Amino acid sequence: MRYRDIRRYLKPYSIVANRTTTINHAFAACIAPFDTYDEERVREVVATLGQDPDTNLVCSYCGAEAETWDHVHATVKDKKFSGFGHRIGNLLPCCKTCNSKKGIKGWRIFLSSLPMPDPLRKERESRIDTYLNRYCCMDAIPEHLPEYQELQELRRKVLELFHKADELASVVRSKV
Ligand SMILES: [Zn+2]
Repeated sequence: MRYRDIRRYLKPYSIVANRTTTINHAFAACIAPFDTYDEERVREVVATLGQDPDTNLVCSYCGAEAETWDHVHATVKDKKFSGFGHRIGNLLPCCKTCNSKKGIKGWRIFLSSLPMPDPLRKERESRIDTYLNRYCCMDAIPEHLPEYQELQELRRKVLELFHKADELASVVRSKV
């Protein structure tokens, strides 16, 4: 870290700037369909990825020790549910570094940005391709449901309240 990094804290904290993405994500994630745990299927998926289900898993992108599961296709797109939920076919073993660096980038673009020998990259790419072709599917986005529209309205209201809170906080700071 460089000493100049301190600058990012020497300014007013904005709820909107720091929490909008979290809120959009939460409202998308909460309606995303999910698979129930199926031991046999998970073992099969892990084997498809060329990994041994009886040992610790490694990151599907960089090969480091896996610490989490990455939603291959992000659950959120344009602030809304993307159609890709919490499905066994949409989750890959992943290290925390890759999980946070990948962000909303496509998995293939992210994989090509990692330093590794070409043959290894091709092998990982082909394993992920096989896994996605075999297990990944897109769910319908329930835009026709009134409850879905009401949820979107709630999300807008929450963000509106964040704006209001930021304005009030600015007034409070100016009066202290
Ligand atoms: Zn990784």
